[in-house]
Amino acid sequence: MKILVLNSGSSSIKYQLFNMENENVLAKGIVERIGIDDSFLEHEVNGDEIVIKEDIPNHSKGISLVIDALLDDNHGVLASMDEINAVGHRVVHGGEKFADSVKITDEVVEQMEDVSDLAPLHNPPNIAGIKVCQELMPEKPQVGVFDTAFHQSMPAEAYTYALPYEYYEKYGVRRYGFHGTSHRFVAKRAAKLIDKDFNDSKIITCHLGNGASVAAVKNGKSIDTSMGLTPLEGLVMGTRCGDIDPAIVPFLQEKEDLSSKEIDNIMNKKSGLLGISGISNDSRDIQEAAADGNERAQLAGDVFNYRVKKYIGAYTAAMGGVDAIVFTAGIGENAIEIREGILDGLEYLGFELDKEANDSRGKEIEISKAGSDTRVFVIPTNEELVIARDTAEILEG
Ligand code: AMP
Repeated sequence: MKILVLNSGSSSIKYQLFNMENENVLAKGIVERIGIDDSFLEHEVNGDEIVIKEDIPNHSKGISLVIDALLDDNHGVLASMDEINAVGHRVVHGGEKFADSVKITDEVVEQMEDVSDLAPLHNPPNIAGIKVCQELMPEKPQVGVFDTAFHQSMPAEAYTYALPYEYYEKYGVRRYGFHGTSHRFVAKRAAKLIDKDFNDSKIITCHLGNGASVAAVKNGKSIDTSMGLTPLEGLVMGTRCGDIDPAIVPFLQEKEDLSSKEIDNIMNKKSGLLGISGISNDSRDIQEAAADGNERAQLAGDVFNYRVKKYIGAYTAAMGGVDAIVFTAGIGENAIEIREGILDGLEYLGFELDKEANDSRGKEIEISKAGSDTRVFVIPTNEELVIARDTAEILEG
């Protein structure tokens, strides 16, 4: 069985074609700068990369180019489109409607459109990708895999904001959480590594990338996560502020004469590591500058680490203990000093950091010493593989 996985953004489309017999990636790539000048497709097969420069005004043209690349005589991997059994789509927001991945029907698309207000930057391009595939490959089953779905198991006490209840009822203002596909994948893997039944385990997963969130996964279910109505809540991120006193918003709007759009832009695009350091949203630049004595870069790193540490403590309390802590995504998988900084002082949870094991990037490894009661792991995430697996599972009924 072959599954095409698509992640359609506003100006880009990422894709991977999986052979599900061995879960190998046959080809992958990205369409960039859709609707902007200098658009191109980057296509990778067996480590060889080719770039196709072409005018790509919309998602329809972008996905057509992906199909052409997969079928191409020279760099293609398919003899015909019949070889693709289904398409799996990443969809950011499923609201309260989707607690699992689903086979896409017209009704499902309508339900996705209904919650687009909650993710106005993400859901419309996700849906555009689905509609193009329905047109180009009407006979192929399409499956939607939602970033929010895994967190739908959160209890009301974790997802309810203490605002007038009518806003939840009228507009769905509540906490949803994101990165669910990643948290689910690494939490399941951690349960296996500690040889515990996933349905009888307490795992804290730290997805630390440019966007970052922590989840408390108890007995196989997400019971809390740091992102909320939108991906702005929670941890300090590359350019997002995470948790702040909400009174800061009207305070700054008045002081700086800012519209709601402008303050939203500041909190999403100009805050976080970039906002504090003033130099970069990239944790590598922050670490380098801090090592060179830049005090604000040092402070940005310290604030980042401290916030993650607090969430790990909070989620240990929420679950009544923790069996395993997992680090994943760009920072979680690669940033040795940041993992050490976060874990420093958390040893009372029942582990000792194995500094030698922690001196590693991008691979699955246990970083707690043998004999630790609470185990700590680095587990590379693979959201595309989860989408492909869910799609295959739904196809097989
Ligand atoms: P992501 O959004 O998951 O792609 O993660 C992006 C973040 O991962 C950026 O802040 C990068 O600085 C960080 N990152 C990626 N590779 C490394 C590395 N080798 N060492 C430290 N940080 C890294």
